[in-house]
Amino acid sequence: MYFFSEFATNRKRINYILILFARKFKPARVFAYPIKITVCPGTLCNLNCVLCPVGQNDKGREKGLMEFSTFKKVIDECGPYLYKLDLYNWGEPFLNKDIFKMVRYAKKFKIKVSISSNLNHFNEKICSELTKSGVDHLLISLDGTSQESVNKYQVGNNFVEVVTNMKNL
Ligand code: SF4
Repeated sequence: MYFFSEFATNRKRINYILILFARKFKPARVFAYPIKITVCPGTLCNLNCVLCPVGQNDKGREKGLMEFSTFKKVIDECGPYLYKLDLYNWGEPFLNKDIFKMVRYAKKFKIKVSISSNLNHFNEKICSELTKSGVDHLLISLDGTSQESVNKYQVGNNFVEVVTNMKNL
């Protein structure tokens, strides 16, 4: 599947062969690069989901937004080998003002880019930038089918606004 993927290049294919080799022979040192990574663009969120350390302001988690220069450093090293980048983890990605700059940079390396958002921090500008950025895959985190049900877990979520944002998208 990786060999014939639309995100493959010869360099990525050779790296993938090295991964298969490492899987089979389990050498002491692996020379291959990862083919999929997760980069969290920030540990800030506008919601307070009840089981989330970010949403619950867990003191053990440092808060902050990733700078573009840090992101660039990671992608410059791994990008030529990557098939997939998940540009989200704990936090709302659209709170980082450089998020689309990051997407565009990753796309230069022919990487499949995914983002997951709660779509509460959203407006026309973000909507327009998102559709033009080259994001391949967007997950929308909406944990309920009405304002009442969503309130049970995703505290702070505006159900009607999220549905409207989805329609606009
Ligand atoms: S939307 Fe995601 S990051 Fe934000 S509080 Fe909920 S689970 Fe945590």
